[in-house]
Amino acid sequence: MKVVRHYPLLTLNTLAIESTAEYFAQPKCEADVQACVQFAKSNNLPIKVLGGGSNVVMSDHVSGLVLQFTGKSCRVTHETEASVTISVEAGYNWHDLVMYCLSRGWFGLENLAYIPGHVGAAPVQNIGAYGVEVKERISAVSGVYLDSAQAFTLAAHECDFAYRESRFKQALDGKVLITSVAFTLSKVAKVQVSYAPLNKMAEQQGVPTPSELARWVIEVRQSKLPDPNQLPNAGSFFKNPVVSQAVFERLSARFPDMPGYPQTSGVKLAAGWLIDRLGFKGRAFGPVAVHELQALVLVNRGGKGSDVLAAARQVSQAVLECYGVELEQEPRLFD
Ligand SMILES: Cc1cc2nc3c(=O)[nH]c(=O)nc-3n(C[C@H](O)[C@H](O)[C@H](O)COP(=O)(O)OP(=O)(O)OC[C@H]3O[C@@H](n4cnc5c(N)ncnc54)[C@H](O)[C@@H]3O)c2cc1C
Repeated sequence: MKVVRHYPLLTLNTLAIESTAEYFAQPKCEADVQACVQFAKSNNLPIKVLGGGSNVVMSDHVSGLVLQFTGKSCRVTHETEASVTISVEAGYNWHDLVMYCLSRGWFGLENLAYIPGHVGAAPVQNIGAYGVEVKERISAVSGVYLDSAQAFTLAAHECDFAYRESRFKQALDGKVLITSVAFTLSKVAKVQVSYAPLNKMAEQQGVPTPSELARWVIEVRQSKLPDPNQLPNAGSFFKNPVVSQAVFERLSARFPDMPGYPQTSGVKLAAGWLIDRLGFKGRAFGPVAVHELQALVLVNRGGKGSDVLAAARQVSQAVLECYGVELEQEPRLFD
């Protein structure tokens, strides 16, 4: 396995930011990762873990050793008549995995079709879409600690999963490389269409099969979200903020049409609605703009990481001034 110096990251991030890694390597197994950890230790380099680059904002120069795990195997570790548990290596493309599982008659991931990125990043922010979060299908996460090079496996209940959150973004942030994820999937076709747009389609067209549901999700996503290959972006740039009931009621009095979704800890607001209502759709901040149709998405037309962050600051500042609500950025900074 080669460690390369001054490696270009332009094609490895969906915001298409021109950036260079000080060192770069693509381990494909646990032993490779352990060798990389030793290399980093010997050269006093911090390690940064990159997946498909669809949820990161790169700075011009990324210091240290950037590792992109490339192992892509998928094997069955347990099977019953009703379910299957698979262990999938972190380098497997997420959407390809969803489609592969469907082709094998393994159900439960279809609502998460067409999310960019690699399997290894899915538990990091507990990816979710159309009424399903990946935590509902994960049974364990395995990887390597980047300080000791020791391997670990955490059961799902040890991963502290929450909305776009996990232990890998909190206590273990920057401290592990995930090498594989175990999923338990159903062999019984049962679809989850409670999310409003899917529910409407089910009312009009009948309850879909899991494969049809994946097709619907892909169609809706293609019609709503810009394709990063044509218009570089990192998906939703801000998390939906959760506010207290009292704050929600105060805001509702000022903005009666503001959507709010009750949670155990308060009320979740739609960050896209807050931004849209400020008239920001299509607004450009230098080379970075709020997408014309999707207020949550920032699109990058040749800007640097600092341009993207500056645009995000302007948007979140305007939201704070108007509503008194702080927006939290979803993509991670890679510097
Ligand atoms: C058009 C578009 C639509 C999107 N839609 C959704 C959506 O519907 N729902 C959703 O939840 N997200 C969505 N996203 C965000 C993104 O796709 C997910 O967060 C995805 O899981 C990121 O995967 P990645 O491999 O590209 O991770 P990267 O962007 O490479 O990394 C993201 C973070 O995970 C860490 N990481 C990556 N791999 C590993 C590993 N093996 N071990 C340890 N840490 C690791 C990185 O260090 C970084 O902090 C969207 C993005 C785009 C561009």
